[in-house]
Amino acid sequence: MTKNQGQRTKNSLIAGLIGSAIAFVEPVFALEVRVNPENPQLGDTISVWMEVDNPNQPPTVMFEGESIPIFPSNTSNWYRALIPTTPLDNPGRVTLQVTGDGETRNFALGLRDRAFSTQRITVAGGGSNATELELSRVADFKTTMTPEKFWNGPFLRPTRGRVSTVFGVRRYYNGVFAQDYYHRGVDYAASRGTPIVAPAAGRVVLVGRESQGFRLHGNTVGLDHGQGVLSIFLHLHQIDVREGDFVAAGQRLGTVGATGASTGPHLHWGLYVLGEAVDPVPWRFQGID
Ligand SMILES: [Zn+2]
Repeated sequence: MTKNQGQRTKNSLIAGLIGSAIAFVEPVFALEVRVNPENPQLGDTISVWMEVDNPNQPPTVMFEGESIPIFPSNTSNWYRALIPTTPLDNPGRVTLQVTGDGETRNFALGLRDRAFSTQRITVAGGGSNATELELSRVADFKTTMTPEKFWNGPFLRPTRGRVSTVFGVRRYYNGVFAQDYYHRGVDYAASRGTPIVAPAAGRVVLVGRESQGFRLHGNTVGLDHGQGVLSIFLHLHQIDVREGDFVAAGQRLGTVGATGASTGPHLHWGLYVLGEAVDPVPWRFQGID
């Protein structure tokens, strides 16, 4: 063995010792965090999974400085938080802070921008046709938060018919860009009377009727899928459920109609996470747990 080879052997031995020392030390950093998708785009729902050593001390999650509710999962020591993003968010770097097992970890995610199509609407006069009653009942509905998780796997398509307006479309009203508007759901064009089914299990927590003042939304059903995940269905013809009913995925809720402010029969399905309308597409196809 030459002197150089001897030196290399010694160096690699030291490197090996350092490597194993690091590997040995690593379990001390017990908090494990997984973020999905790692590379989200506007409208995505971000899931954050966290494993802690001590399940009696749940972790906490802050996203862009706001506290996000967390829920225990079915896997012991693992918790999960869901974070909504919308077309109104600023794309770019966003920060996530997770605290657990006496440790705080900071993450930076790149929230990708996305091109949303636009519609140009000409309206005569101004103001919404909505009544105070429907606005307050829908606002209350959006704050629903129950700890149980009722959904399981990808969401079902709620009705037949083609998608006539996708999620996130932005609008110009009389040539002026509407800063706060985006299409908060997916529209399916289907003929009046086409069945509507629950895309996932949940409890019926809102039934509103045009005859009671739902002038804008029309006949409306709101479902609570648990853990801050909600579906709202608008412009129904017939409603087949009552508040308090628990429905399975695929169970009939009513039929497509054109009640409320609707130019033709269609279903508007809005999917909300923590009160924000998110893109239902990842929920329909990948599924979000
Ligand atoms: Zn719509």
